[in-house]
Amino acid sequence: MKVLIADDDPISLTLLRSALQRWGYEVVVAKDGEQAWAALSGSNAPTLAVLDWMMPGLTGPQVCRKVRELSREPYTYIILLTSKNTKSETVEGMEAGADDYVVKPFHDHELQVRLRAGKRIIDLQTELLDAREELRDRANKDLLTMLPNRSAIQDLLEQELSRCHREGRTVGVILLDLDHFKRVNDTLGHLAGDTVLRETAGRFRSNMRTYDRIGRYGGEEFLVVLPNCDLEQATHQAERLRSKLDQQPVFVDGTQLCVTASFGVTVSDGGERSPEVLIRVADEALYRAKASGRNCVEYLIIENSRAASDVVGAPAARE
Ligand SMILES: [Mg+2]
Repeated sequence: MKVLIADDDPISLTLLRSALQRWGYEVVVAKDGEQAWAALSGSNAPTLAVLDWMMPGLTGPQVCRKVRELSREPYTYIILLTSKNTKSETVEGMEAGADDYVVKPFHDHELQVRLRAGKRIIDLQTELLDAREELRDRANKDLLTMLPNRSAIQDLLEQELSRCHREGRTVGVILLDLDHFKRVNDTLGHLAGDTVLRETAGRFRSNMRTYDRIGRYGGEEFLVVLPNCDLEQATHQAERLRSKLDQQPVFVDGTQLCVTASFGVTVSDGGERSPEVLIRVADEALYRAKASGRNCVEYLIIENSRAASDVVGAPAARE
């Protein structure tokens, strides 16, 4: 673990450094308060710090206050080194946001134990932050395909729509649905169905531009968001995805399955549209693709869509 030590006294600094290195810490050195603040506020900052109280530039407590004002994550655990040992002064140090203090000249073993306590706090907090990150990630992810889930891809579409609206660009939207997917589940079982979904999701994802996004919208439905795409480009991309699926069978437990999908394409018209409206129009185009024999691409613009104005219309069942 990386530890910052700050002391304006060279002898004290040398003592600190050799002790901490002996205990296995990676040591970052600051010779005054300004240097300490620069190290703690910079990128990849140490999360554990031992600060001398009296230093030119900024004192230990002043550095402490500035670090606390940043209120950054991960937390910085700060130990003040002080020759002041009266209650009111140590209280002042703690008030400034220090977590602990050690009286100078420091006793080796005492400092070692207090650093260990600080390290324990930082390690625990790192675990908590990781767990929170993982929860956040899980909340946005479809755990079968590892793609963004329905609400996450809707959010992405909303963000892209407002961004492109500001910049006067259009956003392509594709809604696609695997053909006769129910048959896979009915004849080969749900595990086979899961394999098909994972495989197709992977194939779609690997055939898109890096800034395009795809999410699992429903059971066997996927929503694709194409920033800066007009209708022609979006339709072309849908055709590309269709053929990537159509050209190569999916293998499920050694069985070769021909999986196809139908695609509905639309594009934002640059006006202020809600994601719901665009998804509804793409859905209407998808319905047409299903009706005209499946394994094909249909597109529709908002002006020609019945669904765009039909807010209460129930989605049609399809397979
Ligand atoms: Mg000093």
